[in-house]
Amino acid sequence: MRIGVVALQGAFREHAQALQRLGAEPIEVRLPRDLDGLDGIVVPGGESTTIRQLMTEYGLLGPLASLVASGLPVLATCAGMIVSAQRVDGEPLPGLGGLDIDVSRNAFGRQVDSFETDLPVPAIGDHPFHAVFIRAPVVKSAEPQVRVLATLPDGRIVAVQQGNVIGIAFHPELTVDDRIHRYFLRLVTERAQVPSAAHSN
Ligand code: GLN
Repeated sequence: MRIGVVALQGAFREHAQALQRLGAEPIEVRLPRDLDGLDGIVVPGGESTTIRQLMTEYGLLGPLASLVASGLPVLATCAGMIVSAQRVDGEPLPGLGGLDIDVSRNAFGRQVDSFETDLPVPAIGDHPFHAVFIRAPVVKSAEPQVRVLATLPDGRIVAVQQGNVIGIAFHPELTVDDRIHRYFLRLVTERAQVPSAAHSN
């Protein structure tokens, strides 16, 4: 499985290592030509304004948004989730699309802008996932077609899936627990088995 990792800024190396541990072939993606022949793509955490700007400058935003719309499986974490969201703090910004959500950036404020917590994520198994939040966003609102994968005890949504796109507010690549990457790779395998005409839900 050839899995692209958007490698412009942020935690892309850690994602590539996690994918490699699971037997996938990570491909660093910077330019539109790097998108050829991918089975899925990871958009990492980092700084969403920088990633969005560099994707625009490198001509990657449009071609990648088209692939997302046509059903390419995406694992979008933290800043990656922000650039895949329909709205950011209520504003529609140019992005990858794929998640009909409104996200709030830096939702946990400055004092507690990084924290770790054991988070139930039923879709990946019974044991909570040790989730590392770094200046993380939350999902303020989601359209009905968006499935909620995880919420904090106070009800705030921090992981979602809409068809081929998984959005995670925390950093699954920074822990040894690889269940979120496995969940993503299962989606890639499933999508590879359906005819391409059925890809666009
Ligand atoms: N706060 C960052 C942003 O708005 C995201 C943080 C992260 O990806 N860890 O882009």
